[in-house]
Amino acid sequence: MLPYGKQSLDEADIEAVVEVLRSDFLTQGPAIPRFEGAVANWCGVGHGIAMANGTATLHCAAKAMGLGHGDWLWTSPITFVASANAGRYCGAKVDFVDVDPGTVNMSVGALAVKLEEAEKEGRLPKVVVPVHFAGQSCDMPGIHALAQRYGFRILEDAAHALGGSYLGERIGNCRWSDAVSHSFHPVKIITSGEGGMITTNDEELAWRIGTLRTHGITREPGRMTREADGPWYYQQLELGYNYRMTDLQAALGASQMNKLEGFAARRRDLADLYDRELSGLPLRALARDPAGVSGWHLYMIRLNLDSIRRNRREVFESLRAQGIGVNVHYIPVHLQPDFEKLGFRVGMFPEAERYYEEAITLPLFPAMTDGDVGRVRGALVEALGL
Ligand SMILES: *Cc1c(COP(=O)(O)O)cnc(C)c1O
Repeated sequence: MLPYGKQSLDEADIEAVVEVLRSDFLTQGPAIPRFEGAVANWCGVGHGIAMANGTATLHCAAKAMGLGHGDWLWTSPITFVASANAGRYCGAKVDFVDVDPGTVNMSVGALAVKLEEAEKEGRLPKVVVPVHFAGQSCDMPGIHALAQRYGFRILEDAAHALGGSYLGERIGNCRWSDAVSHSFHPVKIITSGEGGMITTNDEELAWRIGTLRTHGITREPGRMTREADGPWYYQQLELGYNYRMTDLQAALGASQMNKLEGFAARRRDLADLYDRELSGLPLRALARDPAGVSGWHLYMIRLNLDSIRRNRREVFESLRAQGIGVNVHYIPVHLQPDFEKLGFRVGMFPEAERYYEEAITLPLFPAMTDGDVGRVRGALVEALGL
């Protein structure tokens, strides 16, 4: 089975992890700042804060932005549940903004309309989480302009997008946002096993997120409410978590960063090859915004269901039966039972729902060969009943 995604590990990665096993620190040792520095440098940003996973980074960043009971977090309905759950962990309410039918990123037009209504009703969001779907940046100047006008903070979910760029700058640099969340789950662009990172230029936000990562505890004299009892002393200043990354993970992540450029280039080449190989079939890729270069975490197709005699499920099952490990990203979050309990219903975000009906994710990972792309094309021709 050709999987839809797969990590690429080499001997250098394995050596990096083994070296940590032979060292004094298994967690919170020197590999953590090394990995944080590597990602922050790549992105061109002041701070990197490594954590246990991407979900933890979204949670802590939202909390550090002041999100709490009674507040709203808005995100895209076409994302992994984590983008929305971050708000719920903070006790906040969550709402969604429908997607652009071309890029399937959060629609700036829909956001503007929703903000106008929310202002009248006194329920403006405190935090908006644009998700760079499949690795392609959202329209960040548009979202940024609305943030200026309505006073919300922007937390980019770049779990798909490390290695991509937008308006000539690397995704993750916070040019248009307060903070950016990254994930290093094995299917993502680089991996640390499990892991995530926040990148930000906001010193105060960085400090608070770093503190939330480890129980809300600080040892910094300038931050404590009274003088230390002695050298052992620390203070818990607010309720935080154990969201630390281990040195084993950070060493793997830092080693993977040496290969990010190559991974991203190979993903781009494969995506271009898919575009060429699939042209003429009754399907379409996501629209490409010429303002940026995608990180290409995923390659999705949308079936032209009107012009084929099969439905999405039949096409999907045929591809799987032919050894193509396709997937679907994502079931709209608002249609998850745990979100329906909050009042969300079918029909609320029609572009997201339309996308979901037609979508299939094809295999894409750096070790794939050009021949694999040809094999996917052949399987698609069969699956579509052409
Ligand atoms: C992977 C992912 C995350 C975070 O995932 P973790 O598994 O917690 O690292 C968040 N948002 C999106 C869109 C993702 O794909």
